Amino acid sequence: MVQENFVGRFAPSPSGPLHFGSLVCALASYLDVKIHGGQWLVRIEDLDPPREISGASQHILNQLEAHGLCWDGQVLYQSHRLQAYAEALTFLTDKHLAYHCQCNRKRISELNGVYDNRCRTRGLDAQNHATRLALHDHIGVVTFEDQIMGHISQNICSAVGDFIIQRRDKLFSYQLAVTVDDAFQGVTRVVRGTDLLDSTPRQIYMQQCLGYKQPSYAHVPIAVTKDGQKLSKQNLAAGLPPDNESLNLWVALDWLKQSPPNYLRVLAPAEIISWATENWDQSKLPATLKVPAPNGF
Ligand code: GLU
Repeated sequence: MVQENFVGRFAPSPSGPLHFGSLVCALASYLDVKIHGGQWLVRIEDLDPPREISGASQHILNQLEAHGLCWDGQVLYQSHRLQAYAEALTFLTDKHLAYHCQCNRKRISELNGVYDNRCRTRGLDAQNHATRLALHDHIGVVTFEDQIMGHISQNICSAVGDFIIQRRDKLFSYQLAVTVDDAFQGVTRVVRGTDLLDSTPRQIYMQQCLGYKQPSYAHVPIAVTKDGQKLSKQNLAAGLPPDNESLNLWVALDWLKQSPPNYLRVLAPAEIISWATENWDQSKLPATLKVPAPNGF
């Protein structure tokens, strides 16, 4: 079904090459956009320079192209968007929806990660302090209908408390940047891994604070190792094997429960993508948080 102005996106962090887990997210997002006749955007989330691996952004873009996942328009780099994040932060601070906080890491860990909002009424200035979003006590539970995982609800006050939108070292937080950029890019559907499911209520709340429209969400199970850990650059998941794009795609479609026929294995990536676009059925995806990665990935 073609929908006017349907926009999806893939938003990798350049902390290493694409691995199997990121390929399935990119593929699910791409196919979801294509069956809706929409635009598929790529955004490089290069907000955190110390975690960045030199050359990773270009490597990821090359891997996407090699797998036949071609994006629309220009790639957006978060490192070029600092002014927009600063403006959003000023807007929130001016509206008394954000405040500065001096609590250190030790104190936060003693609170088990749920901030008790201690600095909310202290009136601290910005210098050498982090900035937190003030959650209004009346918000209660944030709910949304996930296209795969169903009804999701979270009480963000008791689950996280007032959360950081700019760190003390002045790096903008993932939560702020992703919210500002999804709105800036006109994203109407977010398809990503279930590891971010519990970030979505925070992002929905921030969209409301900033007066943005809310996209719809579909969280795809994450690919995990035998002992249940997310495949990630941190646990040194292997990058996708090079010169193996057709098989990588076939295995990814199989893992996504799309029942790709065997003859596809040897076709060119563009042909596999074209089959997948015609046959994509999101309802076949399991509504579970984790699925083991296939052998060899
Ligand atoms: N950059 C994030 C990551 O690589 C994904 C952000 C998102 O899809 O919202 O995990």
